[in-house]
Amino acid sequence: MNSIVRHVGGHRWDGVPVLNYKEDGSHFKAISRQVLFEGGPKLGAELRYFEIEPGGHSTLERHDHIHSVMVIRGRGQCLVGDAIYEITNNDLIYVPTMTWHQFRATTSEPLGFLCLVNVERDRPERPDEANAAMLKALPKVGEFIRL
Ligand code: MN
Repeated sequence: MNSIVRHVGGHRWDGVPVLNYKEDGSHFKAISRQVLFEGGPKLGAELRYFEIEPGGHSTLERHDHIHSVMVIRGRGQCLVGDAIYEITNNDLIYVPTMTWHQFRATTSEPLGFLCLVNVERDRPERPDEANAAMLKALPKVGEFIRL
């Protein structure tokens, strides 16, 4: 990897491809993904930049691996566990292990955030019918989530 990758403006970096958020094409809306640092044998972490367009949202999911997130563009809301949080530029969000989470862009601007994860990580789990019913029954969470 190059020692320096130049920022080329607008949350884009030289030679860093802007990818689809996930390949399965469902359960999320209007998100791009850029891998800023891939990690490797001497650093078991990956740093990605996600950008959610206005009205878009990430997948509602949980998994054993954790997320450390920093908002660097715009504002939005996120579900972590059973609470909805307003999030804005420079806020830090910690998603613990096996905790339901979902991010949404709620204004007319994109929501952009850095997300730090383990390179070695388990596959996300989506809510089954029982979990979906449980989440829908929670105050505020029920109206927030997009399945
Ligand atoms: Mn996740």
